[in-house]
Amino acid sequence: MEKLLQGRVALITGAARGIGREIALKFASEGCDIVFTDVVVNEQAEATRDEIAALGVQVRAIASDASSFEAAHEVVEQVVKEFGHLDILVNNAGITRDTLLMRMTEEQWDLVLKVNLKSAFNFTHAVTPQMMRQRSGSIISLSSVVGINGNAGQANYAASKAGIIALTKTVAKELGARGVRANAIAPGFILTEMTKALSEETLKQFVQLVPMRRGGDPEEVAKVALFLASDLSSYVSGQVIQVNGAMA
Ligand code: NAD
Repeated sequence: MEKLLQGRVALITGAARGIGREIALKFASEGCDIVFTDVVVNEQAEATRDEIAALGVQVRAIASDASSFEAAHEVVEQVVKEFGHLDILVNNAGITRDTLLMRMTEEQWDLVLKVNLKSAFNFTHAVTPQMMRQRSGSIISLSSVVGINGNAGQANYAASKAGIIALTKTVAKELGARGVRANAIAPGFILTEMTKALSEETLKQFVQLVPMRRGGDPEEVAKVALFLASDLSSYVSGQVIQVNGAMA
């Protein structure tokens, strides 16, 4: 049976580790060539690159700050030049700077909005002409359960993730007629380095909020990304799929 993404090219931001890395590996296991970015190409990024290559696909790791409009356009230009097409974009790069609103600095607000929301705009903007020409493409952006529900201590992060949803729905409406789909994934509590930074007490409290009584595995997010990237979801666009163990 042909693999789900055989012959396709995916660009994934911030994929040296965590959810992005897992998405890259999942796509590669389905025959997809992978270009991924991260702030730096360090040992971790190189290890990810080697693991992807071992699956028998083409892979490139590029050091690039997703929040830079110019750098994003350069990355996309490079991918199109080298591969001739770009079928899937995953806007995954993200950070947190958590604190209560009353203590939040302007810098903390600006940085999180810039890295989480502007990066998604940058790359979506950069891939749009190519995907319109191809008359096909799947854009997947990582939102979050807190972008839907809000969360104390995460005003900047929650606002950025709500922005991702509005961006996704708008792009789906603007590009639908050209065969380009856009969807968001809103993970709940997924066990990665981002969440490992939380205290044990906070982790315990989070798990109590999850009806399935456990954190999610990054691979469980990657499986949904695979669905959205592939033709399995050919009539799915403008949607937000929550991957959260029934967490409200
Ligand atoms: P992570 O911190 O493990 O990985 C994020 C990656 O993005 C890192 O490799 C980091 O270096 C990279 N990155 C950060 N800033 C960047 C920039 N400016 N340019 C390029 N790369 C950059 O986080 P994760 O848990 O894997 O999260 C991945 C995405 O999923 C994020 O958008 C996050 O907000 C979202 N998410 C995570 C969870 C969770 O529970 N872990 C829940 C909901 C949403």
